[in-house]
Amino acid sequence: DPQLNQNYTFDNFVEGDCNRLARSAGYAVAAKPGGTSFNPLMIYGGVGLGKTHLVQAIGNEIKRTLPDKVVLYVSCEKFTQQFVDALKHNNINDFVNFYQAIDVLIMDDVHNFAGKEKTQDFFFHIFNHLHQTGRQLIITSDKAPKDLSGLEERLLSRFKWGLSADLQVPDLETRMAILKTKVYQDGIDLPHEVLEYVAHNIDNNVRELEGAMVSLLAQSTLNRKEIDLNLAKQMLKNFIKNSTKEISMEYIQSLVCEYFEVPIEMVKSQTRKREIVQARQISMYLAKAHTKSSLKSIGHFFGGRDHSTVIYACQTVEDLIDTDKKFKGYVADIQKKLKMS
Ligand code: ADP
Ligand code: MG
Repeated sequence: DPQLNQNYTFDNFVEGDCNRLARSAGYAVAAKPGGTSFNPLMIYGGVGLGKTHLVQAIGNEIKRTLPDKVVLYVSCEKFTQQFVDALKHNNINDFVNFYQAIDVLIMDDVHNFAGKEKTQDFFFHIFNHLHQTGRQLIITSDKAPKDLSGLEERLLSRFKWGLSADLQVPDLETRMAILKTKVYQDGIDLPHEVLEYVAHNIDNNVRELEGAMVSLLAQSTLNRKEIDLNLAKQMLKNFIKNSTKEISMEYIQSLVCEYFEVPIEMVKSQTRKREIVQARQISMYLAKAHTKSSLKSIGHFFGGRDHSTVIYACQTVEDLIDTDKKFKGYVADIQKKLKMS
């Protein structure tokens, strides 16, 4: 199927909290197209978060395991263009017949239907036909169905029939895992600390994450230089927002955990182990000092604690800074790293 890109698979779609529901729903649909209540399956999320990758992976998985199924991937723009051409050339019947014969229709970026009433109308009928005859529909958009504007109500209500699952911005660990997958896939050799630097600093979408890596590699090939951390920082100047960038709680957590060599997930756990409590309290203290987050949201972030716990943590850290030289040094070190980022 020329519309499916073989490079997009489940294998190389890294799982994280940001995509777990969407990924597993996609997997379920791939195993039983048309045979689950996830029909349509609607995947939504911002630019570069993996919508196209995931729905292509579903299509490829179906082709692999159920080769007789007719799977079609089409973008909303392409569908619109085909429809306009069919009208122009009086081929509407062929167009309808073609679409009605599909077992799995993957329609990418339906927000682009906004304002295109005739095309929407037409798609509505195709949707109904496919749905009524038990075929699978998979749809992506940049927003949840309830937030899509410019689409007809009756089409939106169809989108809500099945399951909507969103893709969110990946957290630091997932970004790191994605980078490692790409590096491995392409047989590239980049130092771990360079990957960490990229994962820390490029945190809005996966496409930019990849873009940064491609740029690094291109520059290193051109200059015939091995990439170390300093060179990477120089090369990525244009990619990375300058120091006015807001520091996130997630970043603080990762720095503190790295510094004290404690596993990142422990900070959010209930454990009372001394070194974990220390890392947790320092994280809260730094979050209060360096982010705009409220005490409530800081408590929530670090393991669902209440705001009085945060106040207590900050007080404890301040007291220790006053009385314990070594401790004061720790906090100063971490703060220095925070500002360097
Ligand atoms: P969207 O369609 O949401 O704009 P894409 O599917 O085009 O985003 O993803 C952008 C890039 O990021 C693609 O190269 C894709 O392979 C990659 N990508 C996104 N999410 C993941 C993930 N979870 N694991 C691996 N690669 C990902
Ligand atoms: Mg896309």
